[in-house]
Parts: sequence; C-alpha cells; structure tokens
Amino acid sequence: MDLRNAGVTDTRVLAAIERVPREHFVEEAFLDQAYANQALPINCGQTISQPLVVGLMTQALELGERHKMLEVGTGSGYQTAILAKLARRVYTIERHRDLLMSAEQRFQALGLHNITTMVGDGYKGWPAQAPFDRILVTAAARVVPSDLVAQLSDEGGIMVLPVGDVAGLHQEVIRVRKEGKQFKSERMFPVRFVPLVQGIPPESRA
Ligand code: SAH
Repeated sequence: MDLRNAGVTDTRVLAAIERVPREHFVEEAFLDQAYANQALPINCGQTISQPLVVGLMTQALELGERHKMLEVGTGSGYQTAILAKLARRVYTIERHRDLLMSAEQRFQALGLHNITTMVGDGYKGWPAQAPFDRILVTAAARVVPSDLVAQLSDEGGIMVLPVGDVAGLHQEVIRVRKEGKQFKSERMFPVRFVPLVQGIPPESRA
C-alpha cells in the first residue's frame, strides 16, 4: 500500500507509521495479512483499523509533539502506538478489559511509555484529564458526543471522529475545530467503523 499516493503526505505521520510494526497488533491467524491495507478481526468482535484510514485520521489531527491527547477505542493499540510517536502523551479508553490488557502488553514490549490507559466508557471522555489538545475516536458515533466536545481545548482543539449509522453503511470522518466557544465541523472521507457503544460490558467491571 502506497500511503503517500493515497493521500497521507505528512512526513511525520508517515515516519510514525513506519516505526510501528503492525504485526505486533494483529492476531496470529492474520499475521500474513499484517501489512495488507485492510481492517482485520481482533478479540471481542472488534477490528484493527485499515492502515490507510489510520494514516488519514492521524494526519487530520495535525498533531504536535507538545500535544496531550485522548483516544477513544484502544482496540489492538495500533493507532495508539502511532499517536504516541507524535504526541507528548496519549490517554486512551477502551470498554473491553481483555483488549486493553493485550494492548498494554504491546506498549510495554515496544517501549512506549507516554500512554495512559483506562477501561471505561469513552462516550464520557476522561474529565479528570481534560482539556485535551486533540481527541480521536476510532469507533463510529451516531452524533458527535457532547462530553467529548466539552473536553476539547478551546484554544484550537481538534477532534476527529467517524459519525454515522451503526451498520457502517453511511459513515464519514468529521473534523471539529474549537476556538473559544465556537466550533467548525468539516466532512472528510467515508469510512466503515465498528460502532461506539455506550457503557461497559459486565466482564470488564473490576
Ligand atoms: N484503533 C483501534 C480500532 C479498534 S475498533 C485499532 O486500530 O485497533 C474500535 C474500538 O472501540 C473497539 O475495541 C471497541 O471495543 C471500542 N469502543 C467502542 N465503544 C467504546 C466506548 N464507548 N468506550 C471505549 N471504547 C469503545
């Protein structure tokens, strides 16, 4: 997959992607497809995102090395690891404890120490750590969650998230820019994500 030809032109983003081995994040049965441009199944009925979508969404965030950011939907941790190469600190929330535990092991193995994790409902964000310079959601919401908008920095904060139906047939990545109390939203490109689900499953409760 030539990410550059497909629209990922930010050299810092391309370098971060090159430095994160995707084979560490896929299930053993799919190792031979680790570098194909496709989403792959992970545990708990979820998916690791498609590399091109990871590239385009990361680029859309306009991340700087001093930024503190929030990610909702850790999943395999692949996207988190790329964000950790670009931002100062990444707070990441996942509702499935099993997935989060595997992701944490990968972060350790890869020596990524600027990631803070939490099992929880990302719909509500992480109020204790707000405001965030950047927010990325990697599961599709039906509407932009208001708690997340509230936790975005009002000094040029940017949030990128897929919005659309649960079936994944009509979803689009939206970029929200916040300046003071003003917002601007832009529609970016069509995608297909698993849904953002409210609450946490019983087996994730401590
Ligand atoms: N970026 C991940 C994509 C994982 S798929 C990767 O590349 O591997 C989306 C993830 O969002 C799933 O793991 C799902 O469990 C999680 N998710 C869905 N709704 C959530 C919520 N309300 N809070 C936290 N995580 C959520």
